[in-house]
Amino acid sequence: MTTPEDGAAFQDPERVRALATAIAQAVRPGKRYRFMEFCGGHTHAIGRYGLAGLLPEAVTLIHGPGCPVCVLPAGRIDAALALAARPEVILCSYGDLFRVPGSARRSMISARAEGADIRMVTSPLQAVTIARDNPQRAVVFFAIGFETTAPASAAAIKASLAAGLTNFHELVCHVLTPPAMAAILAEEATAATDVRPRLDGLIGPGHVALITGMAPFDRFAQSNGRPIAVAGFEPTDLLQAVLALVTLTNEGAARAVNRYTRAVTEAGNTTAQALLNEVFEVKASAEWRGLGMVADSALALRPAYARFDAEKRFPCDLPPPQVNRACRCPDILRGLIAPEDCALFGRSCTPSDPVGACMVSSEGACAAAYAYGGRRAATPLRRPQP
Ligand code: SF4
Repeated sequence: MTTPEDGAAFQDPERVRALATAIAQAVRPGKRYRFMEFCGGHTHAIGRYGLAGLLPEAVTLIHGPGCPVCVLPAGRIDAALALAARPEVILCSYGDLFRVPGSARRSMISARAEGADIRMVTSPLQAVTIARDNPQRAVVFFAIGFETTAPASAAAIKASLAAGLTNFHELVCHVLTPPAMAAILAEEATAATDVRPRLDGLIGPGHVALITGMAPFDRFAQSNGRPIAVAGFEPTDLLQAVLALVTLTNEGAARAVNRYTRAVTEAGNTTAQALLNEVFEVKASAEWRGLGMVADSALALRPAYARFDAEKRFPCDLPPPQVNRACRCPDILRGLIAPEDCALFGRSCTPSDPVGACMVSSEGACAAAYAYGGRRAATPLRRPQP
């Protein structure tokens, strides 16, 4: 268990300096190291603490598709807005999603202003309570997130079942981490005309590993031939992960290591895993913003829970989403460019008037770049190697 003193220790300047020195000493002369931090929480910690500036020039950190709001394609926002447009529906959503634009920049905020009954919740159980209090209405919870938040969505289904509710449903948009990581590496391997240099390793999301344990990351490292270091969200956590990745890269070792041992266990949260497996199954494929269709990368309700599926309860055919082609979120999420490379960054796209999901989300790369300023020593992957 982490105490407040422990928390301060993970930001201790002496320890941070010692780790930065160890990384600089571990770097081999003439070699460059490119690591992708998958998680938006890591992206913000790197910006907030200025960690990229502490690393030797040879080490580049690149943002990946680890923000659950950012990777949600516009079509899923359109689906939520179509549900909210039904007079019998109350749509419940986490606040992060409220300003994310779907087609033609329509969002839950604008739909609410037009009269849709859309309510902000901080937990899916709140949506279950709203369903209990509104038996004449259908309540739809917009269930998004990685393996971290999916157990709570499963728990809400079970809670509504236990309460005998027939008016609670979920728009399930939960996605899985390792398949997206593999898709990034697969694209890197097959993009024949690409000049992007190879990623040497990944910083794994601590919050996801807390639920899943290390097994999915072990399998990922073995089948994709790249090391992965699971990290927490304090400066020393992230620097320890970078040090581990530099060392593993030097050794040519493709394995997963846990650098968040105060929270992540080998087995993970087995109770949450059992709940997830009971309620959800893995979908054959799902669309991600930036990555397109990714096999085995999302969750769907198991047939026994199909009556909770909002899309089955309220089927609707939507036209293909209209997206703003000037927004470069898809390229940012694939690690191809940095936020500052988007022509709209800081001009027509700001946190107070965002154009794309990466500027809206509290975990988005564009929001981090805007908040912490400057190019965070991120060399865009498309830049040719020296
Ligand atoms: S700056 Fe705005 S428009 Fe450009 S990629 Fe980021 S979110 Fe999209």
